[in-house]
Amino acid sequence: MLDDLYKKIVIEHAKYRRNHKKLDGENVRKVHYKNPTCGDVITLYLQLQGEEIKDVTFEGEGCSISMASASMMTELIKNKDLRNVSIIRNEFEHLIREGKEPLGDIDLGDAMSLQGVYKLRARHNCALMAWQALDKLLSDVSAYKGIEK
Ligand code: ZN
Repeated sequence: MLDDLYKKIVIEHAKYRRNHKKLDGENVRKVHYKNPTCGDVITLYLQLQGEEIKDVTFEGEGCSISMASASMMTELIKNKDLRNVSIIRNEFEHLIREGKEPLGDIDLGDAMSLQGVYKLRARHNCALMAWQALDKLLSDVSAYKGIEK
């Protein structure tokens, strides 16, 4: 279902996961999250500085889509303002659930390679797991608006 080029990007991220490590330090939050449909697991670490994501890492195990998506997410949100992260997050969910391309100048980077997942309903949660973990981690932060329900 994913075309060959996109598939390569996904497999590369799943194999060589960016920011795949534990994070220690001041103001580091962490959350453990599980995708019940596929058994994927993630521990997400986030360091905030004011309303900016100073650092983000993860540890996890699971299918290629879930691990690639987590890897891509860390690249997308690091050093970004939480309001921007909210926008990116919602555009990414539209991409996965509806196959809808992001608006205007919003750049989803390598995460665009997951667009084809929208045709694979059973894998939606795999692609969204890292972002749902992020929602959980930032649920008490008003500058961050998680997914529109
Ligand atoms: Zn999965």
